[in-house]
Amino acid sequence: MRKLILLFILAALPLTAQQPPSPVMMALFKNEKGFKDPAKNAALQELLAKKPALDIYETAALGTAEALEKMLRADPEALQRPNRFGWTLLHLAARKGVERRFEALVDRLEPGTDRWTVHLKDDEGGTEIAARSVIIATGGLSLPGTGSDGLGFELMRRLGHTLHPPYPALTPLIADPPRHAALAGISLDVTLTAPRLLTTQGGFLFTHRGYSGPAVLDISHLAVRSKMAGGPPQPLLVQWTTDGPDAWDERLRTGAGIVITPLRRSIPERLAEALLTEAAIHPGRPLHQLRREERRRLVDLLTRYPLPWTGDEGYRKAEVTGGGVALSEIDPRTLESRRHPGLFLCGEILDAFGPIGGHNFAWAWATGRAAGRGAAGRIQS
Ligand SMILES: Cc1cc2nc3c(=O)[nH]c(=O)nc-3n(C[C@H](O)[C@H](O)[C@H](O)COP(=O)(O)OP(=O)(O)OC[C@H]3O[C@@H](n4cnc5c(N)ncnc54)[C@H](O)[C@@H]3O)c2cc1C
Repeated sequence: MRKLILLFILAALPLTAQQPPSPVMMALFKNEKGFKDPAKNAALQELLAKKPALDIYETAALGTAEALEKMLRADPEALQRPNRFGWTLLHLAARKGVERRFEALVDRLEPGTDRWTVHLKDDEGGTEIAARSVIIATGGLSLPGTGSDGLGFELMRRLGHTLHPPYPALTPLIADPPRHAALAGISLDVTLTAPRLLTTQGGFLFTHRGYSGPAVLDISHLAVRSKMAGGPPQPLLVQWTTDGPDAWDERLRTGAGIVITPLRRSIPERLAEALLTEAAIHPGRPLHQLRREERRRLVDLLTRYPLPWTGDEGYRKAEVTGGGVALSEIDPRTLESRRHPGLFLCGEILDAFGPIGGHNFAWAWATGRAAGRGAAGRIQS
């Protein structure tokens, strides 16, 4: 169900004058690839270091910490509510005279000499709105049930914008046949590597259909893209513990007792048994009897386990959409389209996404704020 039209009729908004671009925003735009590999992006790290979330979200949304303080004086409970971010925004938007329309679909945008005409499909059989500035915040394709069905991409394509092909990101992977279905429910912290491309660390979850958890979601776009490219599937290697090959080799070579003992001290027992089965080593085998090639095989499975993924859960479960409108066609100071004056874009419709951990909200908020200021600046100019 389409719920909310995220098109702001900015003529009605007495927003503050345009500000200089934030250095963080400039850096993010300059470093499109870096945003996709956030560990390497100093600007993004800086943005995230500003946690707690209040600093990032509310300040980004409200413009100033003072505005937030003022609001809290009027309603001290506001931030205790579970949906505090949405509540805060709606509260402020209402005070600024924002009109919201529900069950209204933007299905066409027409540029004019100094006005846009926005065509809505709504209960009234269609409405036209004239606006000097239009902000497009239609999201991507993830979780289509929320109304993000890609029409925003289509609108931008029709306006001549370059669209980098969208793809699901932060989505669980599947294995067909589900080789590890018997381990479903087991979770542990791992290091997951796409050789020469990306290493992620964090939670890993065996599911009935395949693999999930933050580490898997964060690397899933590489698997998805390798499928899209039609080449060989992206190899993904799992290191199940914090210890690397040398440490495991030493432990297995010099340890006493049976082989499963050091394994179950580090990983869940059922996973230890599964790895030993794959290595064709009996769990009760005395460590000192392990032959060198057996030890090597086991060390490999413990530290460079090739994840047998065959597909992904797609947009149905993707938390974010990769691809989108090329950043090179957007002015990072104002988020205004370089192709169409008066058209501003923000959030997931742009070709940028980050890993799990609030990066995508941060992107949507930060670009949303900049677009709002850019659009207001245009109206005032
Ligand atoms: C299940 C799930 C969990 C997530 N968890 C996190 C998380 O923990 N941390 C994080 O940082 N990010 C998370 N994300 C990602 C984050 O929610 C998005 O990146 C962010 O909401 C994108 O904001 P947006 O405003 O660009 O688009 P959206 O939030 O997708 O909003 C787009 C809106 O536009 C409307 N719309 C679309 N087309 C039209 C049209 N033609 N006319 C009118 N309206 C239209 C849609 O109905 C929708 O309401 C999650 C996403 C999902 C799906």
